[in-house]
Amino acid sequence: MNERTAVVGAGVAGLCTALLLSRQGQHVEVYERDPEGPSDVLDAGARTRPGAPQTRHPHVFLGLFRKQLISHLPDVHDDLIANGVGEVPLASPGATPDQVMLAARRSVVEWALRRALDRDAIPYHAGASVQEIVTSGSAVSGVRVSDDVVPYDLVVDACGARSRLAPSWTEVVADVECGKVYNSRFYRLAEGVAPPPTRYGTVTVVDGLGYGVALFSHDHGSFSIDVGRLPEDETLKDLRDASAFSRVLGLFPQFEPWLKPGVSTPVSEVVPMAGLRNVMRTLSPSAPSGYLPIGDALCVTDPTFGRGAALGLGQAIRLATAVAAGDPVSGVRENEQWLRPWYDDVILQDQGRTALWRAAVANEPLEAILAGLPPNPFMLLDAGEHDPVLADASAQYVNMLAAPTMDTPEFRERVGKLIPVLMTQMMMNPAPSYAEVVKALSGT
Ligand SMILES: Cc1cc2nc3c(=O)[nH]c(=O)nc-3n(C[C@H](O)[C@H](O)[C@H](O)COP(=O)(O)OP(=O)(O)OC[C@H]3O[C@@H](n4cnc5c(N)ncnc54)[C@H](O)[C@@H]3O)c2cc1C
Repeated sequence: MNERTAVVGAGVAGLCTALLLSRQGQHVEVYERDPEGPSDVLDAGARTRPGAPQTRHPHVFLGLFRKQLISHLPDVHDDLIANGVGEVPLASPGATPDQVMLAARRSVVEWALRRALDRDAIPYHAGASVQEIVTSGSAVSGVRVSDDVVPYDLVVDACGARSRLAPSWTEVVADVECGKVYNSRFYRLAEGVAPPPTRYGTVTVVDGLGYGVALFSHDHGSFSIDVGRLPEDETLKDLRDASAFSRVLGLFPQFEPWLKPGVSTPVSEVVPMAGLRNVMRTLSPSAPSGYLPIGDALCVTDPTFGRGAALGLGQAIRLATAVAAGDPVSGVRENEQWLRPWYDDVILQDQGRTALWRAAVANEPLEAILAGLPPNPFMLLDAGEHDPVLADASAQYVNMLAAPTMDTPEFRERVGKLIPVLMTQMMMNPAPSYAEVVKALSGT
């Protein structure tokens, strides 16, 4: 205990790790290459974040993230609530108290974590890019920042998916494309307009065939919408155009209460993000002792499932426990084991979605693909009237409060019995067809 610790990277994973380690008596300093953010929550959304470009895309904060925050960093949870972040339950027949999502922008969650660092007097070096980790023999001895080497016993690599520290001392054990390109835009509701209802906690998801759309309700009247397409789909590339994006959204009655004239205005461009991959790493046997990768530097999963923040905080909790026990590396190993089933589940879901979208875009029959798909939890959330067990299990799974898969024989059998109901539901609440989306995009 009491090793000098550098946390490199002040995303959700790094900030949570710094707080947890400091609160158990560790000397911690944080290095973040991006400039310092605004101190007022109302300005938090305007923070420039070149080091974490995903901040310009919607984030959902799932039940597990909130549950872990309440149990391990309760002051941060309280601060969020006191500063305008709402909590929205994900209804299901037997909803548990943890089935609640936080309606926050990612920038606001980081704002609250950063404030907690100040309360704890944890040194925070903004605009400080760590160039390398310095070693002595087989152990970490410090970090190089500009021309200085600062001595540390432990270095937490929380530099995210593009960490340039991780490739030297971790090995990639799995790397699979997500099969989705995002186009996202943020909006603000007009003064005095209350957020219209969302369907699944803070989110309304519309699973199209060949594309997908989701609306996220955030704090302070802000909300965001993303439209996902296949990476190879050149036709939907035009979603980047703001007018085309708006025309497509006009097809969805679900979003009308949010987007009708006078209710909201866009506050960002349409921002694309491509090249997303699911990557699982493992600590290399040759890594120096004291090097501790965490968060997206260790495991990245498709953002469609909104799990990154919960996985980052969960890793921070496990790592802090291992550091307190005097065996930091066991924390990384435990994290690898905890992460793997969540990673494998995302791969399975991505494969199913991508196969379905590819067939829909090519206008090929979908029945055989549909029959082979793992249970789709979003569809099952709506099936509470017919199978409450399935609806409850889906709500727990979506919030990461249950086992990291719904692909079990029991659930497959239950879903099999429900297929006629699910088909009727789809017909009663249809998403626009791929052809309709293409037509709206072209403006013809
Ligand atoms: C499009 C998209 C949407 C997403 N949506 C969701 C969602 O809905 N819900 C969810 O929970 N998760 C979501 N995620 C994932 C989520 O953003 C991350 O998983 C989560 O924030 C944990 O990331 P992290 O802290 O490990 O890394 P990051 O958030 O990437 O932070 C890494 C930090 O390290 C800094 N840094 C990098 N290198 C250095 C260096 N050498 N020196 C100093 N600082 C450095 C960067 O500037 C950055 O601040 C999404 C991701 C993407 C790409």
